[in-house]
Amino acid sequence: MLAPALIFAAMVLPFGAALAQSKQEVVVQRAGAQKPTAGPAQNFTGKVEVTGRFQGTPPARIGGGTVSFEAGARTAWHTHPLGQTLMVTQGVGRVQHWGGETQEIRPGDIVWIPPGVKHWHGASPASAMTHIAISESLDGKTVDWMEHVSEQQYGR
Ligand code: MN
Repeated sequence: MLAPALIFAAMVLPFGAALAQSKQEVVVQRAGAQKPTAGPAQNFTGKVEVTGRFQGTPPARIGGGTVSFEAGARTAWHTHPLGQTLMVTQGVGRVQHWGGETQEIRPGDIVWIPPGVKHWHGASPASAMTHIAISESLDGKTVDWMEHVSEQQYGR
């Protein structure tokens, strides 16, 4: 039979850990508080703007931002160590994994890119596209960049 003190500890310690975590404060990042940043030419083709970047505090690994691509703009080929979720909010876009068909994506579509899968995403040739991008970091890293997507690969 367990000693009463052990039973007490088993009941109270998890509650204590929850209390310690609850001391962190809720953070509201206000709309427009962040300046948009341009997607660097090294990793993107065309004009790309990132707003609303966010990053969870450890042990959370989640982070991301809202990415807007002008018509014809796209990422370079890349992978994410723990995968990525894209939620399209505006326009018409495209996504493709290496060796797969290019797929059209539209507002409301949710795309899952599995860990380590080489892919690109961006706008369609005739329409801009905005998506929210969410990924978890592994050892502080969320993306490994590769070569640009050629005009032929992009499909025009
Ligand atoms: Mn990606």
